Amino acid sequence: MAVYKSKGIVLRSIRYGEADRILDLYTQDAGLVSAIAKGIRRTKSRFGARLEPLSCVDFVAYQGRTLHTVTQAETLRSFHGIREDLARFDAAAGIVRTVRALSGGDEADRRVFNLLYHGLDSLESRDAGFGTVEAAFGLKLSMLAGYAPQLDACVGCEAVPEETDGRLYFAPNLGGVLCAECRTESADTFPIPLEVLDRLRALIRNPIRDVPTDEILGESVRRVVRSHVLAHAPGNLLLGPSTPGTRRLA
Ligand SMILES: [Zn+2]
Repeated sequence: MAVYKSKGIVLRSIRYGEADRILDLYTQDAGLVSAIAKGIRRTKSRFGARLEPLSCVDFVAYQGRTLHTVTQAETLRSFHGIREDLARFDAAAGIVRTVRALSGGDEADRRVFNLLYHGLDSLESRDAGFGTVEAAFGLKLSMLAGYAPQLDACVGCEAVPEETDGRLYFAPNLGGVLCAECRTESADTFPIPLEVLDRLRALIRNPIRDVPTDEILGESVRRVVRSHVLAHAPGNLLLGPSTPGTRRLA
């Protein structure tokens, strides 16, 4: 069994038995991992970290057939400011759902780990605009996962949105914008005003730490991002939590 060391962000941490925890981690070196930390809830636990949800840890683990076993962990950053605030926590929960939905299996992608870390950092350090961070995260992760939404031209005819009559639609299953002429009634499309399109482009352009703190058009922006993520999630994991141990492991 291979032993490895990595940084990881705890996506989920559930109590198991008398003193153990079962964890889902997004790791820098092994992608999405399910693991058990044995004896961590004992008062004399040798773990240096409590492995709370959202905390970023340095850990050592060995690979098992279904679950990895964490043998050491140290907290690098707890992100407790997010766990203690409902609005921040809600946005973080959305970010975690997006990671689960778009990051398949054990393919490690450091860019995903870094985006997740900076997304949580942005939520903890700002005073407003949490939903905007969540939306920006969804867009950026879609791009890393190879599902960049097409926002600069109609998916059907490549017309530039600014040069159409302004009646634009978002088509989640097609992954982008449709002009009025290309829109088909049967598709699950919905209207998207040009201002919302501009806002989405700005979220893509700016680093996640610099997204605006206001929530202008927030609901419309989130609707586009959520529908896009949902349409591209393998197996629609967004619809329910996955069971630890059932995922493909390294
Ligand atoms: Zn068109």
